[in-house]
Amino acid sequence: MNGTFLFLGTGGSAGVPVIGCSCAVCRSTSSYNHRLRPSGLLKIDGKTLLIDVGPDFRTQALKYGIDHLDGLILTHTHYDHIAGIDDLRTFYLKTRKKLPCLLSRMSLDDLEKRYYYLFHPIGTVPTLSAQLEIHLLPHAQGEGEFLGIKIGYITYKQGGCQVNGFRFGNFAYITDIREFENSIFESLVGVKTLVISALREESSPLHLSLQEAIDFVKKVGARRTWITHISHSLDHESTNRKLPKSIQLGYDGLELEFQI
Ligand SMILES: [Zn+2]
Ligand SMILES: [Zn+2]
Repeated sequence: MNGTFLFLGTGGSAGVPVIGCSCAVCRSTSSYNHRLRPSGLLKIDGKTLLIDVGPDFRTQALKYGIDHLDGLILTHTHYDHIAGIDDLRTFYLKTRKKLPCLLSRMSLDDLEKRYYYLFHPIGTVPTLSAQLEIHLLPHAQGEGEFLGIKIGYITYKQGGCQVNGFRFGNFAYITDIREFENSIFESLVGVKTLVISALREESSPLHLSLQEAIDFVKKVGARRTWITHISHSLDHESTNRKLPKSIQLGYDGLELEFQI
């Protein structure tokens, strides 16, 4: 079975252009240098799944004509990955069906603190907020099913935050990775198409550098890799010329195919 993955956003937490910045990339007229906050849309077996729902979700939904979702997968609960969550109410108000949401226990605990009102509606009037049907990842690493779709998952860290990466057949999406155990590579054997985050050329306390991402890709052995979560320090075309042909910067609107 074939699946597709559409990049809704490939920018870092500030997006590109960055507010108030006049660097060459932020002033660039190339659409490849316009990056919304990181997110992706999966289509598998007739189902549409959203990975992360950042502050640009409304813009992304309008830009790519997203008119319904079957499920939401959250990697972690930093602002750039969840701040659009209440815009999902548009779908809830249409269907009055809770949206299945796959996430870790740590993510759920944090989400409940940040968006208390989504989980504890006030009063007896029907809620006007987005509503989630929670599906917890049972372990740190493993395989399971979500909405009848086979999903692999891994856990790694970014600062003090626990983050999840996901695998669908021969495709894996790994964002906001900084520290990881070597055991995660066991779950990535056979991945041919990989999305991995790298913020910039230089190392950062919260993200891999481009070179660190390249080293990671070599361990996975993916045939094709796309970088996401890209800051304004990387110009699309000149960076891609320097990178290996099999490892390139992704861009908003790029669609990938994979087998599941
Ligand atoms: Zn992020
Ligand atoms: Zn800039």
